[in-house]
Amino acid sequence: MQTEYVNFGELSISKKTAHALADMGFEEPTPIQAKTIPLLLEGKDVIGQAQTGTGKTAAFGIPIVERLNTKEGIQALVVTPTRELAIQVAEEISKIGKHKRIKTLPIYGGESIERQMRALRFGVHVVIGTPGRLLDHLRRKTLKLDRVKMVVLDEADEMLDMGFIEDVEAIMKATSEERQTLFFSATISKEIQELTRRYLNNPEFITVSRGNITVPQIDQVYYETKEREKVEAVTRLLDILEISKAIIFCRTKRGVDELVAKMEARAYPVAGLHGDLSQHQRNQVMRRFKNNQIEVLVATDVAARGLDIENISHVINYDLPQDVEFYVHRIGRTGRAGKEGMAVTLITPRDYPQLRLIERITKTRIRREHLPDSADMAERQRDGLKERIRMIIEGGKLGYFRSIIDPLLDDYDPVDIAAAVLKMSEPEEAPVSEEISAGGIPSFKNTGAKAGMVRLFITIGRLDNIKSSELVQVICDETGIPADLIGDLQIYDRFTFIEVPNEWASCVIGCLHRQTIKGRRISVEPARGRQ
Ligand code: ADP
Ligand code: MG
Repeated sequence: MQTEYVNFGELSISKKTAHALADMGFEEPTPIQAKTIPLLLEGKDVIGQAQTGTGKTAAFGIPIVERLNTKEGIQALVVTPTRELAIQVAEEISKIGKHKRIKTLPIYGGESIERQMRALRFGVHVVIGTPGRLLDHLRRKTLKLDRVKMVVLDEADEMLDMGFIEDVEAIMKATSEERQTLFFSATISKEIQELTRRYLNNPEFITVSRGNITVPQIDQVYYETKEREKVEAVTRLLDILEISKAIIFCRTKRGVDELVAKMEARAYPVAGLHGDLSQHQRNQVMRRFKNNQIEVLVATDVAARGLDIENISHVINYDLPQDVEFYVHRIGRTGRAGKEGMAVTLITPRDYPQLRLIERITKTRIRREHLPDSADMAERQRDGLKERIRMIIEGGKLGYFRSIIDPLLDDYDPVDIAAAVLKMSEPEEAPVSEEISAGGIPSFKNTGAKAGMVRLFITIGRLDNIKSSELVQVICDETGIPADLIGDLQIYDRFTFIEVPNEWASCVIGCLHRQTIKGRRISVEPARGRQ
């Protein structure tokens, strides 16, 4: 059957592939695609360099799909540094090859090797794998690459940084000399040049300069904070930024685990992603993040590398990356496909030299912003209330409520009446906002606590089936007070005494007084001190 060709931008591609690209919402090639695809269709070796988010996957995915013969076996191999990326690339190529019925198979460590063997026997056209597992299959002879016509090294720089160079070379050697070889990378280091000299045949070097990048609609800001206040800062940011989906980057796996634990203790639903998790856990986290079941992902640079997740509204650099390139990769996770995104960086005073270096190298200015303090937060709360009142008034249908208020107007000032109604509707918040608006920390009478602490009396106790650890958890969750600031706690059958620092006392009272815990509405007040 004769293949029909149509235009994709300036490129001429088969109708089936064009149809699939249209299904994917691709209207024209990105610059790296426009430059590399014609060369790849001619069978040339290519080194493609472009930043994250520029569409490198389809730059090799489209030619792979175009050049395959579905009647034959494995004809293309893509090597990726991480399992997630292997899965993602397999999905993208499978979408591009949908109407041609191209079969792709990601193979990576952590998944049953037998299952992969069965899938390989079943017949696939494109294998996408991580180096270790690919070698494993090659040694077991469950994967044959001698018929492979195209080999792609995706995220080549990352692969070498991760120490995969020997594995990559062993894989290259297992493929036929006749193959077409492609390297894609955001940066081209000396080692990569060296590799290309050995494995690429008279390659074309295609680079897309920063000015051509289709992506960055990214607003870049930083906030200065102290090291020990970073967790508070990041939670406050989550409160004030209008986040639909965010990735928080930490430098190390331990950093990810620690931040996740601390944020969970503050009742922020987050999930961590790094290389020490099992494959099953990582898949699950990714699925929940993609399906919007979790809004905030905390990840290391390596785990998030190359992942294309749609609609990331914010990237938060909890730690500054050591490497300027990493900064570019990180922020490239947001603002994809022309959408707006925001990159937020937390800076401690000693990070300034590195921040300035990033600004110099990326030729951007990162704007300084200030974290709102508690007075700002109270102001926001007030604005929110005013807005709600306006909306209710404009919504009308107040006849019944007016009939209750009307008679009161003879005796009272309308503003007083409105204020009283407001107080009625928000009993829990009143004490906090009053104190904040008065400015400063309220003083409590002697409550019998240690210096600097306030002893609180809470009407819940052992008979309510609550353990002291649970109560501490509830208090931390509701108020954000770090657990280690909570002092003496004595739990009795029907009530509990607990000591909290002076500056937290009104917050604890404000957040918990009249709240329901274990089905009981509790009251929280300063204890009466023993004289
Ligand atoms: P890179 O590998 O360069 O980091 P990706 O291949 O992951 O970038 O592509 C980034 C995003 O852009 C993906 O969501 C991809 O589907 C989308 N994309 C790629 N090519 C096009 C195109 N021609 N038109 C529209 N969107 C595209
Ligand atoms: Mg990529």
